[in-house]
Amino acid sequence: MPLDRYRKKRDLRTSPEPAGDERVRAARAARRRELFFCVQKHLASHLHYDLRLEHGGVLLSWAVPKGPSLDPRDKRLAMQTEDHPYEYGMFEGVIPSGYGAGIVMLWDRGSWRPEVEDVGAALAKGDLKFTLDGYKLKGSWVLVRTRGYGGSKDSWLLIKHRDEWSGPLDITAFAPLSVKSERDFADILAAGDPDIWTSNRPARTGETGTMLAEIIEEAARRRSAARPAGGTRSASGKKKAGRRR
Ligand code: MN
Repeated sequence: MPLDRYRKKRDLRTSPEPAGDERVRAARAARRRELFFCVQKHLASHLHYDLRLEHGGVLLSWAVPKGPSLDPRDKRLAMQTEDHPYEYGMFEGVIPSGYGAGIVMLWDRGSWRPEVEDVGAALAKGDLKFTLDGYKLKGSWVLVRTRGYGGSKDSWLLIKHRDEWSGPLDITAFAPLSVKSERDFADILAAGDPDIWTSNRPARTGETGTMLAEIIEEAARRRSAARPAGGTRSASGKKKAGRRR
């Protein structure tokens, strides 16, 4: 079944991530135009960027550790991961524990178009050329399967083709914020439940651990700055967003 791997990896009773509705999948699978794509910046065990391309009603997914590059000379490792539900494409928030625990930012979104007739055949062949029309990423790209990384069939390279949208600009540094909320990681954490990790923070070491510790501290600082004098609630006074189910 589509999305089995996705559902098996997570405890969707406790995760804020969408479960994925079969009717949505079927409806999206019938579409041929205006296919959705997104990139989610994900601070989990390591910072990475999840590229997701809608195909067959689900989001084909690759984790790109260094993020996409607009420079055609850069070949960015992209590890293919489990297909995600279409509804995942707008997700932004905090995964408190379990698989993928950390913070997810919707870093880019838009539509994509395959530059080939048959996407399934291109994937099987390990060479998918496509065009992105997002806020940050545009123009022609290719995903090529590569041998290596332990002989895994899941490793690909994401490469920008030379066109009017390529160049030496470091896009992840130039445009680091959410396209959904304009928030950074600390804002996303502060807007959710920043106390979530006071006792049981996901164990992170090295660079990731340092980054996460700083984000948690910064989120707490922004929360207390936003709290009106004498008040106990957050500035927005908003209740925590409810679960979908
Ligand atoms: Mn991820």
